[in-house]
Amino acid sequence: MQRISNRVQALASSQTLAMSQKSAELRAQGVDVINLSVGEPDFNTPDHIKAAAEKAIEDNFSFYTPVPGYMSLRKAICEKLSRENGVSFAPEQIVVGNGAKHALCNVILATVNPGDEVIIPVPAWVSYTEMVKLAEGQPVFIPTDIEHNFKITAPQLEAAINERTRAIILCSPSNPTGSVYSRDELAALADVLAGHPDVLIIADEIYEHILYTGGEFVSMGSFPLIADRTVIINGVSKAYAMTGWRIGYCAAPVEIAKAVTKLQGQFTSGASSIAQKAAEAAYTGSQECVEEMRKAFERRRDLVVRLAREIPGLKVNEPQGAFYLFPEVTAYYGKSAHGHTINDSGELAMYLLQVAHVATVDGGAFCTPGYIRLSYATSDENIVEAMTRIKAALADLK
Ligand code: PMP
Ligand code: GLU
Repeated sequence: MQRISNRVQALASSQTLAMSQKSAELRAQGVDVINLSVGEPDFNTPDHIKAAAEKAIEDNFSFYTPVPGYMSLRKAICEKLSRENGVSFAPEQIVVGNGAKHALCNVILATVNPGDEVIIPVPAWVSYTEMVKLAEGQPVFIPTDIEHNFKITAPQLEAAINERTRAIILCSPSNPTGSVYSRDELAALADVLAGHPDVLIIADEIYEHILYTGGEFVSMGSFPLIADRTVIINGVSKAYAMTGWRIGYCAAPVEIAKAVTKLQGQFTSGASSIAQKAAEAAYTGSQECVEEMRKAFERRRDLVVRLAREIPGLKVNEPQGAFYLFPEVTAYYGKSAHGHTINDSGELAMYLLQVAHVATVDGGAFCTPGYIRLSYATSDENIVEAMTRIKAALADLK
């Protein structure tokens, strides 16, 4: 038998990716599954970005890249951060990696020591906890719920910080809830953090552009009192429909950027040359494609919220960003149908997969059982069909 390290044995598998895999397997067996599990835009990468990648191949961008990324891309990222977010970074503060996931993991490995506490408001994206565990840090959860729009408050944050706190990971717009912190709410959190100068703020801003009418995106890097210890994580996956290209970055204090570069230099080297040239085109080219996709997501948000609210047992809030709905499902606990009894949200997600043939993700994957996550980054027809099937399957539960 092969021996697997304790470090990897202790890791949970990514349930978002696992559920997506399960639905692909069922589909391969001929089952007509609608996949609302994985969160990725269903649009093709815009043509001008693809053309830049083709040109990069033609122009022989085929050699190892600088470990932190091409200077031209890092400059384009600094310009984007200044233009769109009003935050000032120099190219030596940017490290481009293989997706925001990689950039985030780099930052955690470069800053968290064994035993350090990292605060994670939950529900939280599946990978935060596991990355902290990989660094042998201690995740500290601040629970939220649908009644509070899944947002933490300044007093909750203050109460969670102690002398062992190394960092906090914030995500707005949020995966999995779609909640967006307002400027005032973030300012209140920044005020608390200003009183704790040893705490690093890691702001995952990957969904910044998937933001609905009435919302305002405010970068955590824009609060002067904490700007010098805020790390921004972002990338091209969501805004430009480029999940498979694998380009993300951290914008960090210089020492952290240097540490991340050292780590990356031993681990993965610089990110793909072709994908970096494509990402550069994304940041420097027309931004119309971003707005077009945003509008489509907003229309789908309205559709999925309307349909979900027609299902009596679901408690549904209206997401302000990202492309996820996170309804509470506890009304179905203790009920049975089709040979299934629902005792928790994991069983409900499995019931929906097997009976309704709709793949969702258990809220437990986001450290918040009692809910399920639906990704509505899919066509209107798929959304209507999926919600019709879910409604029927849930109505059977008695
Ligand atoms: N952060 C959040 C909150 C996400 O949902 C994702 C999507 N998987 C990522 C980071 C990572 O994105 P990527 O690695 O594709 O850039
Ligand atoms: N962010 C997406 C999700 O949450 C992609 C899958 C992943 O990387 O976890 O579904």
